[in-house]
Amino acid sequence: MEEKSNFEIILPDGSIYRRTKKESSVRGYDPDGKPKKMKFEIKSSCERCGQCCIKDTPVLLKEDFPLLMKGIISERDIYTVREGEAIRSFIDGDIYFSSMELIKIRPIIGTSTCLFYDYDEGCTIYENRPTVCKEYECWNENVSITGLEKRRLTRLDLFGSIDILKKAIEKHEENCSLNIFNSSIDKLKSKKSETIKKEEEIKEKADENFEKIVEMILYDSEIRQWAKDRLNIQEDVSSLIFGKRLLELAPLYGLIIEKEGENFIIKVMEVEE
Ligand code: SF4
Ligand code: SF4
Repeated sequence: MEEKSNFEIILPDGSIYRRTKKESSVRGYDPDGKPKKMKFEIKSSCERCGQCCIKDTPVLLKEDFPLLMKGIISERDIYTVREGEAIRSFIDGDIYFSSMELIKIRPIIGTSTCLFYDYDEGCTIYENRPTVCKEYECWNENVSITGLEKRRLTRLDLFGSIDILKKAIEKHEENCSLNIFNSSIDKLKSKKSETIKKEEEIKEKADENFEKIVEMILYDSEIRQWAKDRLNIQEDVSSLIFGKRLLELAPLYGLIIEKEGENFIIKVMEVEE
């Protein structure tokens, strides 16, 4: 028998909302006056429906390190989101900037679905799924991860003991900081709408920012090539060590960057007001 609570609300349109422990129902009237009843489930435990696995991929925490050590998750299955990285939300389509470095499981190419999700079987590493997957309760209003800043896994945890990689990551951050990349792009774009300054001055500033962006893109590309030649680090692992390529991120900022021989052409797309 359906277990009922004595919880009942009369909604503004006159319909009655009743909540039972496992199921809620809204009773009301359709446009031609006939009674109607809509049902929806309220979860109280994970039913492995996979909805959270197809919307985004999990962040790894320090306590997930054993999953890497045991080979359940490999270095090819994860990538780095660098501090300041532009990310398009799969929920509202807006662009956000990551306030800290994070290591995440890759999505299936062209989707937002976690690499370990199988559309027939569900999570293929369920018994060994990352901590945030175990802690996530979609039925709970408070779904954020507690203490993320301290608990998150970082590149330093993974590569801090490998001197050459640690230095390469530091050099890359020094020369290709995403916070500087973001502000150079902002300045380059804002020059298009500046009207007060003299034309010469505007051009000079725009050139400076243009050069900075190109320098960063070149360094980003060269260090990956160096890591490939010297350390045999292939493209699928370089996004863990150096994050996504700047060239790959550029369209999120409204830039189209094309390479013609040794030259770069940067096209700034008009931003819709
Ligand atoms: S936690 Fe995820 S898999 Fe579990 S019920 Fe909620 S949406 Fe589905
Ligand atoms: S690891 Fe498993 S539970 Fe976690 S998001 Fe991926 S498929 Fe879902």
